[in-house]
Amino acid sequence: MERMSDARGLVVGNWKMNLDFVEAVHLTQQIGVVLRHQPVAHTDVVVAPPFVDLRSVSSVLEADRVPVAMAAQHVNAHDAGAHTGEISVGQLARLGVTQVIVGHSERRTLYAMSDDVVRATLFAVVRAGLRAILCVGEDLDVRSAGGQNEFVAGQLRDALEPLTPAQRALVTIAYEPLWAIGTGRSATSDEVRAISTHVRLVAADLEMPGALVLYGGSVSPENAGELISQGVNGFLVGGASLKAESFLAIIRAVDDCYAELR
Ligand code: PEP
Repeated sequence: MERMSDARGLVVGNWKMNLDFVEAVHLTQQIGVVLRHQPVAHTDVVVAPPFVDLRSVSSVLEADRVPVAMAAQHVNAHDAGAHTGEISVGQLARLGVTQVIVGHSERRTLYAMSDDVVRATLFAVVRAGLRAILCVGEDLDVRSAGGQNEFVAGQLRDALEPLTPAQRALVTIAYEPLWAIGTGRSATSDEVRAISTHVRLVAADLEMPGALVLYGGSVSPENAGELISQGVNGFLVGGASLKAESFLAIIRAVDDCYAELR
């Protein structure tokens, strides 16, 4: 991958359904102390806490001037109304959320989030001017049959084609193979390089030549340094984002790589 000298890395921590608001505040403070005293110069950092923690996390980020942005893990595609238990984009924006993860595989598989709902949700996020982190990725059956490129291209086209180029510019693509999420078995360097090349070709075809592409799936402090040099702009991190030490080590690995490109 060619990277511009002013390109920046991106690391997003997806806390999933972990940490109550007290624990979330504690983790945010731990991350904040380190990033304020040893800032990363070339990498943007985002955390995606559970909905119920957003207000508390946002207070800490603001009060402690922590250079970290806040994402939500999901959102409802509707603006308001009779959707018991759901949350709107407007409600998230009021809390300081600037990005939303859309179509995470756990939403798609465990909560029956269809391609139609992914498309509508993505549209609702970018229409409001927020950034979206669109998750795509194949399961083990598709990978075993060698169908990953076609599968991922289909997911990308389906979600992105209805958007205008300006709306697409608000989308970060996260390639997350289902067989690597939470399994401790990350994709190999070769696999990450091959799929990131493919995702960039599809993105270019969709008039998104500068799209940010993340890899997600068992990223750890041990493999981050190697995986970041395989053509991705950074990582979507689940389990390893729940401890300040491992999350910060991954951020540092990405930042070191981008520092070398200057
Ligand atoms: C994720 O939930 O998006 C993820 C990549 O999880 P993990 O890092 O735990 O595999």
